[in-house]
Amino acid sequence: MKIVLQNVLWLLFFVAYQYFCLASESVTIGILFNEGSHQSEIALNSTLHKKNTFDQKAFFKSNVLQISNFDSFEASKTLCGMLEADYGIAAVIGLESPTRAILESICNHFEVPYIMTSWRPPTRKQTDTVFNFFPEAELFAQALAEIVKSLQWGSFVIIYETEEGLIRMQEILKLQDYKRNSKQNNILVKQLGPGNDHRSLLKEIKNATENNIILDCKTEHILPILQQAKDQNLLSLHNNYLLTSLTETVLFYDALLHLTDSINDLMYTEKSITPNPINCFEQTKSKNGYIFAAYMKERKPSLSLSGPLKFDDNGNRIHFNIHVVDILDNQVIADWYASNSSLVLRRSSNDTEFAAVANLQKILVNVSSRIGEPYLKYRESEEGKILYGNDRYEGYSMDLIQEVANIIGFRFEFHLAEDKEYGKWDEKKKKWTGLVGDLLERKAQLAVCDLTITHQRREVVDFSMPFMTLGISILYKKEEKKDINMFAFLDPFSVSVWIYTATLYLIISVVLYFISRMTPGDWENPHPCDENPEELENIWDIKNCLWLTLGSIMTQGCDILPKGISSRMAVSMWWFFSLIMTSSYTANLAAFLTKDRMEPTIDGAEALSKQTKIKYGVVDGGSTMAFFRDSNFSTYQRMWTNMLATRPSVFEKNNNDGVKRVQAPKGQYAFLMESTQIEYEIETKCDLKQVGSSLDTKSYGIAMPMNSPYRSAINKAILKLQESGKLNDLKNKWWKEKRKDPSCENFDVEEKSDSAELALANVGGVFFVLGVGIAIAVMLAIFEFLWNVRSVSVEEHLTYWEALKVELKFACNVWITKKRTKPVISESSSSSSHKSDKTDDKSMIHSFLQSAGSFMNLNN
Ligand code: ASP
Repeated sequence: MKIVLQNVLWLLFFVAYQYFCLASESVTIGILFNEGSHQSEIALNSTLHKKNTFDQKAFFKSNVLQISNFDSFEASKTLCGMLEADYGIAAVIGLESPTRAILESICNHFEVPYIMTSWRPPTRKQTDTVFNFFPEAELFAQALAEIVKSLQWGSFVIIYETEEGLIRMQEILKLQDYKRNSKQNNILVKQLGPGNDHRSLLKEIKNATENNIILDCKTEHILPILQQAKDQNLLSLHNNYLLTSLTETVLFYDALLHLTDSINDLMYTEKSITPNPINCFEQTKSKNGYIFAAYMKERKPSLSLSGPLKFDDNGNRIHFNIHVVDILDNQVIADWYASNSSLVLRRSSNDTEFAAVANLQKILVNVSSRIGEPYLKYRESEEGKILYGNDRYEGYSMDLIQEVANIIGFRFEFHLAEDKEYGKWDEKKKKWTGLVGDLLERKAQLAVCDLTITHQRREVVDFSMPFMTLGISILYKKEEKKDINMFAFLDPFSVSVWIYTATLYLIISVVLYFISRMTPGDWENPHPCDENPEELENIWDIKNCLWLTLGSIMTQGCDILPKGISSRMAVSMWWFFSLIMTSSYTANLAAFLTKDRMEPTIDGAEALSKQTKIKYGVVDGGSTMAFFRDSNFSTYQRMWTNMLATRPSVFEKNNNDGVKRVQAPKGQYAFLMESTQIEYEIETKCDLKQVGSSLDTKSYGIAMPMNSPYRSAINKAILKLQESGKLNDLKNKWWKEKRKDPSCENFDVEEKSDSAELALANVGGVFFVLGVGIAIAVMLAIFEFLWNVRSVSVEEHLTYWEALKVELKFACNVWITKKRTKPVISESSSSSSHKSDKTDDKSMIHSFLQSAGSFMNLNN
C-alpha cells in the first residue's frame, strides 16, 4: 500500500513537472492534412506523445487543420488562420495537396518553416524556409528509370493518374531509346480516367498483351486498381508491377521527427524557438523562422526511416535511398542511392529463379500445344473409355514437358491452341495467332510443339534453350517403279490408228489386185520369145498384192513391181502413205522411249526454283513460310514469288496435308518441311524421300511469356535431359519405336536408271512378235509339207505313210538341193531302202561337190 502510494505521488510529481516547469516551453506545430491522411494522423499523435513523454525539453502541441484540395483561396485562408494564433506556429508540415504552391509561397513570404512530404515539380526557386522531404523530382525520375532498366523489361505500360505523374516518368520515357529499332522497347502510356472504374483501361492493356506495368497513382488507389487488374487476369504469374508511389506516412514521420528534434536541439540556446503570431495582411514575419529553417536543413537526422537527409538551397531533398521490394517474397531486391546515383541489386539471379520456381510449383501450369505427329496426337482410348485432361494426348511434347516437370516439380495441363496455328503476326487482326498468341493472352505459361525459335517470335515471347536442331528441306516422291510394257513398240500409235492401218493394208491390197487385173500394162507375155502369144499372164494375184503392200509398209520393198499406169499410181500412193506412217512411227517411238528420261528431277531448292512442272509449297503461317517470305537470297525469293502465284494454293494447313499432297498419285508436288518432320515421315512412308540438304539451321524451343522468371529453371532441366541422353531416347521412342507401320530401312525402290540403253524388258515385245511370227511360219511350213505329202501320195498312188517317209527323208537330206518333180520310190521296202540309200549316197556326194564348187565359184 505504501509502495502504491509512493508511485502515485511520483506520477503526480511528474505530471505537475510537465505542466508547471515546461509549460512556458510549449511549441505548436501546424499540420495541414488532406482527406485520407489518417495514417499520418496516427503517426503524428504517437510521435508527439513519445516526444512529450520522454524528451524533457519542448512540449509539443499540434494545430491540425484539414486543407481544401481544390480551392486555393480556401486553403490560403486556412493557413493564415492557423498562423494568426496567439501562441504562434513554429513550423508547418503540409501533406500532399494540389493547393501546395500557394501554401508554400505564403510560408516562404512570412519566413515560416514549411515542410512538405510530397512530390513537387523540379524547382530552381530560392525558397529559404521551404523544404521537401520527398526526393527531388529529377533525381527521383532518374532513380525510377534506373530501377526499370535493372528490371530489364523489354516493353511496359505506364499508368499514371495526374499530369505530375507523367513528369515523374520523364526519365523512364527516355528509355524508349535504349534499344532502337527493337519492337521490344515499346512503352505504352495510359492515364487513369476519372472515377474508380478502370476496367476498360486494364482490358486495353490486356489486349495489347503487355505484362509489365508501372503504376503511378495515389497510394490509396493502388489496391482498388490491382483488384480490378486481377479481374482482368492481369495479376498472374507473368505480370510485373512497379508501384512508384512512396509512402507519405514514412516521410511525414521523418519530417515530424526531424522538426521536433531540431526544436529540442535549439531549446535553451540563443536560437531558441519562440514563435510569434503572423497576420497575413501585415508584413510581420516569423522572428526566428529563417534561422530555424536553416538549422533544420543542416542538421543530421538522428533517425530517418527514408534514409539520409540532405537538402539543396532550394529545399529539395538530394540525399535519399529507394528500396525496391518484391512484395510476393517480401524481400528488398534493389537499393538506389541518391548520394552516388547508383543502383545496387540485392537479389542474385539464383534467388530470382528460386522464387520463380516456388511460384510455378504453386499453380497448375497451362501448356499450350497443337496436334501434329509425333509431337502431339490424340491417344486412342480403350473402347467406351472417355479420356480427360492430359490423358487425351500423347507424343514427344507431352513426354518432354513431363520430364521437365519432374525435374522442376510442377503440375501441368495441355491445352490446344484454338486456331491450330504455330504462331504468326496477323496483320488484319493485329494480334499473334496460335501458341504464341496463347502465351501473350496469358492463356498459358508454356507452349510446346515443333515450334521454331525465330527472331520475330523472340521479340514477343521467350524461348528455352533448344531441344531439337533441324533445317528446312524438301520432301518429294521417290521415282515410281513403273510396270515394264513389253509392247511399248505399239505405243507410238493409238489402237485406232493400228486398226485403220491394218484395214487399209487389206483394202489397198485388194484394190491393187483389181486395178492390176484391169490395167493392160500388167498383162504380160509368158513366153517373151513368142511374139504373138495366145495368152497373156498377170502376176498380180492377191498373194502378190498383199506381199507388195506389206513389203512397202515394212520399208523392205518387193522384187516384183507393177507395170500398169494405174497400178503404179495406186502403189505410189501406198508408198507415200507408208513413208509418212513409218517416219511418224519411228519418230514417236524414239520420243516414247526417252519419255521417262525426260521427267523432271530435282536435287535441291535451286533445281526446284528453276522449273515449273513440279509445284512446291509450305505449311501456312509457319516459320518455313516466313523463311521464304523474308529471305533476301534470290533463289528463295523466286521460290516465294512462285508459291504465291501458283493456283491452286500450295500452302497447306499442316504438315500432314502437305505430306498427303506429295503422295497424291499424279501430284507432282514437293513440300518444304523441317528435316526432323521429314525424317519422321520417310521412316515409314517408303514412297517419299528427302531431297537435297537443309536450306538453313534452326531449332525448336519451349516458349514462355517474355521475361519469364522460370526460364532459367527450364533451361537447366532441358540441359539435364540432353546430357543424360533423355532427349535422344525420346526422339527414338517417337520417331522409331512407337511406329505402327514397318520401317522403310530395307525397302528397296528401283532407282531410275540414267543409262541410255534400253533393257531387254523394254524391247521384249519385239522379240515376242518375232517368236510368234516364226512359230506360225514353221507351223505353216509343216502344214504345207503335209499337204504336199498328201498330193504326192495321191499322184503316185502311194500310201500317205510311204509318201510322208520319202518326202521327209528328202527334206532332211540337206545335201540335196534339187528336187525331182516326181519322187523316187523303191519297189520293196528293204531293197528300195537299200537302193535309195545308195542313190542318196551318190546324190549326197554330188550335191556336196556341187555346193562346194558353187561356193568357190568353180561351177558356172
Ligand atoms: N515449325 C514451324 C513453326 O514453328 C512450322 C513450319 O513452318 O514448318 O512455325
